[in-house]
Amino acid sequence: MLDVIIIGSGPAGLAAAIYAMRAGLQTLVIEKQPMSGGQILNTVDVDNYPGLPGIGGFELGMNFHQHAQKLGAQFVTAEVTAIEAATEKEKVVVTTGQNYTCRTIVLAMGATHRMLGVPGEEALRGMGVSYCATCDGAFFRGKTVAVIGGGDVALEDALFLARGCEKVYLIHRRDTFRGARSLQQKVFDTLNIEVIWDSVVESIEGEGMVQLLQLRNKRTGQQSALSVQGVFIAVGISPDTDMVRELVDCDENGYICADETCETSVPGIFAAGDLRTKPLRQIVTAAADGANAITSAENYLYHCD
Ligand code: NAP
Repeated sequence: MLDVIIIGSGPAGLAAAIYAMRAGLQTLVIEKQPMSGGQILNTVDVDNYPGLPGIGGFELGMNFHQHAQKLGAQFVTAEVTAIEAATEKEKVVVTTGQNYTCRTIVLAMGATHRMLGVPGEEALRGMGVSYCATCDGAFFRGKTVAVIGGGDVALEDALFLARGCEKVYLIHRRDTFRGARSLQQKVFDTLNIEVIWDSVVESIEGEGMVQLLQLRNKRTGQQSALSVQGVFIAVGISPDTDMVRELVDCDENGYICADETCETSVPGIFAAGDLRTKPLRQIVTAAADGANAITSAENYLYHCD
């Protein structure tokens, strides 16, 4: 029987794999896609991971993966469909491939983008509506696009798109950004980014492709139409916890309730990274969770024996 199964291979899962291998635990990492990295794969420059200024998200994800692999971590690509935690000493992870038994589990499935929830968003998805600037930005070279949101991702996306697009509107529902001050300054210094404050998108319109955004200014109530060829939605993330919501305690937004020990409400199951209740979701805090989760798992295994 495996000592630990790690579900997910973003920074939290891969840091957990590194710590588990160094602790001599029999470890398996189950990843949904064979490309490790999680959300950082879509990050152009990671400017706040200590010691590696400006490293590309893809490269950092690969580095994490290779580090875990070098220490002997085993990886399998499959989707986990259920977890059976019948006893404290044995848990079963059910996947689209085979089932695996283990003594402890680290949940590190991360989070994915949130939808805006306005008319036209779903119908024009892939036809000008995108959730990933680094994936789709090249299609909009020389064009006019909008980015919606005011967090780190929206600011990073606007900066990335401004390199190739003629004009980038950054539409935010308030009059201050939530994202890092260093990114804000870069946005303000970039001539082809125009910030539209206090405004929300009411609908996305177009015949076959995005053509117009209907906006409403929240302060004045004034409505206006903005002509764009693409819209990048960066309004936050939701945790990928649907599969475990009946199993472990989650908060009202679906984040798994766990403190820095990463212990969940089920003994032997730990939560690491963006899917856990925590004040700061960054690559460095996800990696720290991976380390903490394995330390807690080791303590658990020690006391179970
Ligand atoms: P976020 O920080 O939650 O920001 C979401 C933004 O979207 C906020 O400005 C929010 O407005 C806005 N928003 C939410 N719902 C909206 C709606 N329905 N209509 C219009 N605007 C809406 O999310 P994020 O930027 O995706 O970042 C997610 C997490 O990843 C954050 O914790 C971030 O710090 C982290 N991150 C880390 C790194 C790194 O480590 N280098 C890089 C990127 C992201 P309000 O401000 O009004 O709430």
